[in-house]
Amino acid sequence: MSHVFPRHTKSRLPTVASGKGVYLTDTDGKQYFDGSGGAAVSCLGHGDPDVTKAIKDQLDEIAFAHTSFMTSKPAEDLADALIELAPTGIERVYFVSGGSEAIEAAMKLARQYFWEKGETSRRHFIARKQSYHGNTLAALAAGGNAWRREPFSPLMIETHHISPCYEYRGRQVDETAEAYGLRVANELESQIEQLGAETVIAFLAEPVVGATAGAVPSVPGYFKQVREICDRNGILLILDEVMCGMGRTGTMFACEQDGIAPDIITIAKGLGAGYQPIGATLCSAEIYRTIENGSGFFQHGHTYVGHPTACAASLAVVQKLNREKLVERCAVMGDKLQDALQSAFGQHAFVGDIRGRGLFRGIEFVADRESKQPFDPKIGIAKKMKAIAFEAGLICYPMSGTIDGVRGDHILLAPPFIIEDAHIDEIVGKLSSTFDKVL
Ligand code: PLP
Repeated sequence: MSHVFPRHTKSRLPTVASGKGVYLTDTDGKQYFDGSGGAAVSCLGHGDPDVTKAIKDQLDEIAFAHTSFMTSKPAEDLADALIELAPTGIERVYFVSGGSEAIEAAMKLARQYFWEKGETSRRHFIARKQSYHGNTLAALAAGGNAWRREPFSPLMIETHHISPCYEYRGRQVDETAEAYGLRVANELESQIEQLGAETVIAFLAEPVVGATAGAVPSVPGYFKQVREICDRNGILLILDEVMCGMGRTGTMFACEQDGIAPDIITIAKGLGAGYQPIGATLCSAEIYRTIENGSGFFQHGHTYVGHPTACAASLAVVQKLNREKLVERCAVMGDKLQDALQSAFGQHAFVGDIRGRGLFRGIEFVADRESKQPFDPKIGIAKKMKAIAFEAGLICYPMSGTIDGVRGDHILLAPPFIIEDAHIDEIVGKLSSTFDKVL
């Protein structure tokens, strides 16, 4: 009997033995194509020798030193490298151990920023119905999945959820994409007005929605309008790039493609590429200075903040992305993946939408293409897809979500940036046989 407390107590999973490039192998010798990079984590694939060497070298020097007493060269160098790449105005990096922690730190940092300024009445966060921000209590409160929040709701901070920017389901037939973007962005202004701007801390959103929606980017102009609304009302904009950041969408930060910069941005998954657990909360000079000139102490701080070995691994990841121009490669291979998916499944009877940016792609399934009628939840189409694809040796990430009573079933593809043309054929081939078997 296993003594591990697994994610799902009723499932029996194979045991991973090794990984090389885009493949994982289990202890029975079965090989799996890592088509979702776990959940958009493994941007360099598995067994990367440069990252492995950086970790070993760091372990030979110093594995860990507590940041209450000392900083470390990997943490300093990694922060410099990230700020070099970060959106305009972002100046400081606060390291954590993963995505939920990065969001938790972002939300606390935003609140403490206003508190330092004496604006203590601010207590509300606004987020979107179609979002996932992590599983710690504040991150869970911000996330859009009502079913995830439900068991814990008495323990959580109040967060207000507005409509997502979900063109496939939200845009009306007689509406342009731009008009749709403005309409849903303006819900933010209405929500701020309702709460009173002086009580709101921040708006929190994923530039490309990942796990809850299967790689949904916003329409052009949406985030520009959001940025303007935040500025006009004096509230902060927090962008969650835990999943879509670090090159995944074909630019280092997804928000570059929306032409805006946030006040706080969170990253994680691709930052450590799975080699070490690491995340980061990056903030503007204004936020950092306010705390520096105020209490001088961000009231956070976990034991593993700025872990030298994790930072060394991540520095090697960032250097490799830069050196081998892998973000540019991600954009090129992403377009190829989209074209291949579109030509194989664009007219498929139960494929409603194929979308995304870079190597971050989602396929949404519908029972009826014309009416966009979702599948009966009892079928559990996305989970069935996952199981059949897994059997065929393809890992893809399934998710079903409900917004305002409308269900979306989709799978997420987020393969490593090192994929070749033949790997795209392999993904399409394995998906094709999965689609044939699923119903
Ligand atoms: N934010 C986003 C957008 C995510 O996709 C996730 C995880 O999937 C998180 C936050 C939480 O990250 P973690 O699972 O590392 O805590």
